[in-house]
Amino acid sequence: MDMFADIILPVPLNRLFTYSVPPALESDIAPGKRVCVPFGRGRHLTGIVSVIHNNRPTEYQVKDIEKVMDIDIPTLLPYQIELIDWISRYYLCTPGDTLKMLLPNSLRPESENQKDGYRPKTEQFVKLSEHIDRSNRENILEKIKRARKQQDVINIYFELSAYNFEDGSCKPVSKRQLQEHIESKTALQALIANGILEQYQVETGRLPEYSGTSVTPHPLTDEQERAYSDIKNHFKQKNTVLLHGITSSGKTEIYIKLIKEEIERGKQVLYLLPEIALTTQIMYRLREVFGNSMCIYHSNCTDNIRAEIWQRQLSEHPFSLVLGTRSAVMLPFRNLGLVVVDEEHENSYKQEDPAPRYNARNVAIVMAAKCRAKTLLGSATPSFESYANAIWEKYGLVSLNTRYGNIELPKVEVVDITDMRKRKYMKGAFSPQLIEAITETIDNGGQVILFHNRRGYSATVECRECGWVQKCKNCDVSLTYHKSRNAAVCHYCGKHYPVAKVCPECESTHLAEIGYGTERIAEQLIQLVPQAKISIMDSDTSKGSYEDIIRDFQDGVNNVLIGTQMISKGFDFDNVYLVGILQADTMMNFPDFRAAERAYQLMEQVVGRAGRRNKRGRVIIQTLQPENQIIEMLQSHKYRPFFNQQMEERHIFAYPPYTRMVIIKLKESNEQIVNEAAAILCRELGNLFGHDKVLGPDAPIVSKVRMQHIRNIILKTDHKSGFLNTRKMIDKALEPIEKENRFRYVKISFDVDPL
Ligand code: ADP
Ligand code: ZN
Ligand code: ZN
Repeated sequence: MDMFADIILPVPLNRLFTYSVPPALESDIAPGKRVCVPFGRGRHLTGIVSVIHNNRPTEYQVKDIEKVMDIDIPTLLPYQIELIDWISRYYLCTPGDTLKMLLPNSLRPESENQKDGYRPKTEQFVKLSEHIDRSNRENILEKIKRARKQQDVINIYFELSAYNFEDGSCKPVSKRQLQEHIESKTALQALIANGILEQYQVETGRLPEYSGTSVTPHPLTDEQERAYSDIKNHFKQKNTVLLHGITSSGKTEIYIKLIKEEIERGKQVLYLLPEIALTTQIMYRLREVFGNSMCIYHSNCTDNIRAEIWQRQLSEHPFSLVLGTRSAVMLPFRNLGLVVVDEEHENSYKQEDPAPRYNARNVAIVMAAKCRAKTLLGSATPSFESYANAIWEKYGLVSLNTRYGNIELPKVEVVDITDMRKRKYMKGAFSPQLIEAITETIDNGGQVILFHNRRGYSATVECRECGWVQKCKNCDVSLTYHKSRNAAVCHYCGKHYPVAKVCPECESTHLAEIGYGTERIAEQLIQLVPQAKISIMDSDTSKGSYEDIIRDFQDGVNNVLIGTQMISKGFDFDNVYLVGILQADTMMNFPDFRAAERAYQLMEQVVGRAGRRNKRGRVIIQTLQPENQIIEMLQSHKYRPFFNQQMEERHIFAYPPYTRMVIIKLKESNEQIVNEAAAILCRELGNLFGHDKVLGPDAPIVSKVRMQHIRNIILKTDHKSGFLNTRKMIDKALEPIEKENRFRYVKISFDVDPL
């Protein structure tokens, strides 16, 4: 009987493609293997075999598979093929989108002649050429004095390599790493062509070896022991357990015990983290215990390392423990026992762009179930979704309410900024209470963390005469002034502008810096508390220097850390006794149904950085709304009443977790056209789903980004109506738009369970 195979191809069409299997390939072909097939006129694509069957398609002439690329073992395990299907259906994207995201580049079935693919163990690096005078920066810059972009690239190279002009020593910099930091690849090529930089190949495929000795885990406290056995008991009945443990209760120690046990019974463990660069402390802790049986997998790994880990996981000797960020959930596990999702509430588990816009926490749960493994979600501030699932008894719930060493949670004091302003007590962004507390803490040898959710110097530059504000030309958003770069920067598209000195509307020169960013706060603090030694951590900090900042702070080189939400991510410093939140209001007032949940999570996590060892910590929150329920919650540290009250609102307004939400986003450079398309789509969706289930179309707060006008439609579906149906109905609603030629440039994307 003739043999056929359905292939997943990396193309943006919502279907699989059937090809015939020539007799010569019949013995080689298997689901999960990569194959090369003809596609369109003269093109070839590499795809993945999904299923093999004997049903000849009747509606078109099938073509032959040309080649089977995987000789012995398939690149995907059977459960991963199912996972591609699940992700594509649930997140309303194509199997091709999911496949592209799942596989590391070099294993990835790209279009055309991807014949060589994964070549292990070498990578391109760049260095200063030996043929130029490398003894000082000016000599080198002189050579390219007319090429601004090349100068930028070379300066970034100096920074990344920590180039030392005295002895020529430097850290190796890969071409890929450099390309990630620069704007112009052409400028980099020009530097190579001009003989200033040169390329060289390095064997890098070796995964970094750990040479330390392995440390036995800490014995658990009684309280931790109880939580541990509760978790085990729940796992007898349920696939997923939520561990709600307050900050510094020792969740990591419990994970370690569970992981160790899985490994000892021959199982594998996946440990997901929201972010690697900021959580090196956990990485080192796990390395100490699990040594070389563990690997680290994240999006900043070189593609070769990713491919190598992938291949190793398919081999007879896979890593027992993978510590990774969201993409690690896609790796193959042959014998998975447990998935730990640490800080499960974190937004970074959700992929924003491109499709699939998946949430790795949810994918982890589905994937674990397919592997008959268990999932442990952990957080001090659980997402409402997960907590609701626990209350509704889909998940087991285990609480841990004491901090390690019985240290009390910090005392939270609230300062009413309105009142302080009225009495003219505020010094810039600082209240007298906060200044006093900082001074006292530093003078007693302690350290301080200050949280402020805006980077840069000031929020905007505004004309004092007419109220004009400097805005981005591509986006509908005001620019943030960055003093250190002497530029006004768009935080949406990244474009830099010269800072306005004269108002273009009224020609006044009376321009003022409005609002505070981290940079300005640091500048003020130095004036107010001269003994402060300050580090800033925000997304302007280059990724490579996070670790240095963390180390300097840990070693006491600096005594104040000012940062944006980055500092909420699980730092564990012994000596921090004071945490200050400079303005709680922007987060609380955000017009989004999740604002309260998110503001609370963020602030409670920041609060949790204080007084983790020995002594109770202190927190000062500055706010315009001291009576806000979130502030009250932060003072009492009581999650449940806050959760209940918020859930009531979500119920009344039919928001998640009571419904499943999909945001349909339309983009077009022409505002009129996008408005029309959005109106039609909204009407069609309303007819199909019911008009009470469709909200919009609305322009989001920033309604134009990179010259594209954006309109959102919100669709609320209930959990019962099944994915397949939703998908079919949405496709039907799209038909009138797809038919019209004038809508051909409207880009439509779907975000399921948006954050
Ligand atoms: P969480 O993840 O809940 O915030 P951690 O696991 O980071 O808490 O623990 C907080 C601190 O207390 C860490 O420095 C950890 O090493 C320490 N700790 C927690 N439990 C124990 C234990 N049983 N024995 C020794 N140290 C512990
Ligand atoms: Zn003006
Ligand atoms: Zn912009």
